[in-house]
Amino acid sequence: MGKKIVIAGAGHGGLVAGAVLAKAGYDVTVYERKIRSELGYDWEDAIDMRVFAECGLEPPKKEHYAFNGDMKYYNPNLKAPLVVPANGKGSAVFERKEIYDVLIDNAEKSGVKIIYSTEILSPVMDGLRVVGIRTSDGVVDADLVIDAAGINTPLRSRLPVCCNIDRDYGYGECFYAFRGYFDKVPGHEPDVAYEIFLMHQGERGLSWVVTKDDYVDVLIGRMAPMSKTKLQKTLDEMRAFSPQIGEKLLRGGTQEQIPVRRPLSVMVCDGYAAVGDAAYMTVPMTGSGICASMRAGMLLAETVMEDKDEVYSRETLWNYNRKYILHFGQSFAAIDILKNIMLCTEVEGVNFLFDKGIITENDMSFGKGKTEGGMSFSDMVARATRGISNLPVLLRTAGALSKGDNVKKVYQSIPETYDEKAVLKWKQDVMEATTLMQR
Ligand SMILES: Cc1cc2nc3c(=O)[nH]c(=O)nc-3n(C[C@H](O)[C@H](O)[C@H](O)COP(=O)(O)OP(=O)(O)OC[C@H]3O[C@@H](n4cnc5c(N)ncnc54)[C@H](O)[C@@H]3O)c2cc1C
Repeated sequence: MGKKIVIAGAGHGGLVAGAVLAKAGYDVTVYERKIRSELGYDWEDAIDMRVFAECGLEPPKKEHYAFNGDMKYYNPNLKAPLVVPANGKGSAVFERKEIYDVLIDNAEKSGVKIIYSTEILSPVMDGLRVVGIRTSDGVVDADLVIDAAGINTPLRSRLPVCCNIDRDYGYGECFYAFRGYFDKVPGHEPDVAYEIFLMHQGERGLSWVVTKDDYVDVLIGRMAPMSKTKLQKTLDEMRAFSPQIGEKLLRGGTQEQIPVRRPLSVMVCDGYAAVGDAAYMTVPMTGSGICASMRAGMLLAETVMEDKDEVYSRETLWNYNRKYILHFGQSFAAIDILKNIMLCTEVEGVNFLFDKGIITENDMSFGKGKTEGGMSFSDMVARATRGISNLPVLLRTAGALSKGDNVKKVYQSIPETYDEKAVLKWKQDVMEATTLMQR
């Protein structure tokens, strides 16, 4: 015991894993670039509140959360919206800063040391093993580095290629999201408070407008960064459809990045494990990643404690990698296929899928006690008669969906133990299964 574990970045999964390990007697230190009061964002997030109990945590106090309700999804022409009822299963909405209060408080009480205002620059390597991190304050040695530094972590992107961990993400795999709370203009109350606009204004991405009692929560997400002018123009156009959005920005107002892709196939190497956004652990259609990060943190801590010889090699860390893929990754990868359908289908195609009722409420019910949409290849065939007038879009969609089923099978065949050849073969199979639709 007492092995030195460094957590790079105060990400959610790292804080959960760190707390469990520190409690068990490991020497755990988090290095974080921000100061304590800056952690988290200035807005609320929807999460499955069971995650707190699963991670042995008390949720924020009851008066600090609410459950979100029905969601109304609009297609680009705004003509055939679908209302997905919450059916009492809405996620709990928490202030992000209060989620952080719970995580930091628990980590500190468990014995985790947190060093703020420290920029992590790169991993320190000894051959193929990660043996520490290079920071703005010098080099820190570690027996294991847990990478919880988010989508643009300086560690994953600087690992040697032969660690077999994909270092970068591509177009369509990262969402650039503006979020702000605006004052509410009285006189316009939509029938459903949560409105989501798919391929909003004909662009790749989505926007939402959530109308609350005294403010309006606006998100504009696109597949490329947006300039100030572009954001302003988009907001002005949104006000024409949703006149309740006022001009005064009350909170938030920043543009951030969210991974929206399947998780890393390989997320461990000698002396290193990635967790959370650093390993792309979000639901690819919605960008929700807090719960998956926290749950992965628990899986990682379990795996580290199982390594009685304290080797922390790719072989001993593999069980974490495997469990994550089997518990969550395979479903998220299937959802990624749905997201890619949206990404590769033209605006008219998405309108067609909604107008003809080929996509239904059930297909859009992410997070309602399910981790994936309800559409399958057989469903598509049953719906084909409605779509016969636009067979190419229908066939492309059905083809992509059948790939979703296949992707799950490929993920399920992840090797039980880390054998380099078998892992590389599986990784290649994943790549082929997930990219076939682009050929
Ligand atoms: C607009 C928006 C809305 C979202 N809504 C939801 C939602 O409703 N529900 C949900 O579940 N998820 C939501 N997400 C996603 C969610 O924020 C992430 O999936 C979640 O935070 C998990 O990421 P993480 O903790 O691994 O990394 P992050 O939250 O990115 O945390 C990484 C930490 O590492 C630090 N760091 C990064 N680089 C360095 C460095 N070089 N040196 C030192 N420290 C560093 C950062 O400062 C940060 O504290 C949303 C994201 C955005 C942007």
